[in-house]
Amino acid sequence: DKLKRGLKKTKNTITERIDQVLVSFGKIDEELFEELEEILITSDVGIETSMKIIEDLKKKVKETKTTDPKGVKKLLKEELSEILGTSNSKLNIETKPSVIIVVGVNGVGKTTSIGKIANVLKSQNKKVVLAAADTFRAAAIDQLEIWAERVGVDIIKHSEGADPGAVVYDAVQAVKSRNADVLICDTAGRLHTKKNLMEELKKIFRIIDRELPECSKETLLVLDATTGQNAISQAKTFGEAVGVTGIVLTKLDGTAKGGIVIAISSELNIPVKFIGVGEQADDLQPFNSTEFVEALFS
Ligand code: GDP
Repeated sequence: DKLKRGLKKTKNTITERIDQVLVSFGKIDEELFEELEEILITSDVGIETSMKIIEDLKKKVKETKTTDPKGVKKLLKEELSEILGTSNSKLNIETKPSVIIVVGVNGVGKTTSIGKIANVLKSQNKKVVLAAADTFRAAAIDQLEIWAERVGVDIIKHSEGADPGAVVYDAVQAVKSRNADVLICDTAGRLHTKKNLMEELKKIFRIIDRELPECSKETLLVLDATTGQNAISQAKTFGEAVGVTGIVLTKLDGTAKGGIVIAISSELNIPVKFIGVGEQADDLQPFNSTEFVEALFS
């Protein structure tokens, strides 16, 4: 299926290399654990998380009195499932209306993810309004409009350079008057003017809090899986500035380093809600840790 295909590159680096190592070792020793740790680190699981996984794996090997290297694979799979935990990919959109604010650095796949999420919600018979609040780039407004047309949802936009707060304000009024279910806000992502960007985002949040005080709000941070450990530092920056309630991890199909999912889950304490495994509208999947580990080890 799509998930398996999307994780193919990662599977090739993690699982196939693990298999090779386990077959080539006659016994379980320190060197074997070092090889496994190296594989995890090269697939972007992160140094700390990889060390923790291997430490726990050693304990599991001891407890189960495993002596055959081939038996280690099952234990590693168990350990990865535990590290990922039980995922909750459900969006907090309980109230009508509710708001999803989508943040992230330019190029990570923010617009595409908004289009895909709008598509999912539309298919659940929800009335969606998009707010084109990345007014910094004309292309961002145009692209969001293309997605709105493709999916068949409303969009509120102003011209390039307009006040993003004004776009959001208008979008909120449209949501109210059209009796819509969900407002999805695109936002700017020019990180080189970090301070201004964070101020702009905070203003958007203030307007939404003021205009829709009682509604459910979800702040999704979009991260590009191909940027590896950079994604972790972006999550920290946005998390501190605006608070993030969920992560959308895009382009997993384009990387052999899908171990970043494991690093994010264990280091950030923010749930991964969606993963992107391709460019089409149905290539965004709710993240399920069990299915993820199964696809990786199948
Ligand atoms: P934005 O600048 O963050 O809004 O990024 P865009 O939404 O414009 O996406 C940048 C590029 O990444 C586009 O070419 C998208 O088609 C592509 N993209 C987004 N998500 C995925 C994904 O999950 N897989 C792949 N392969 N490409 C993606």
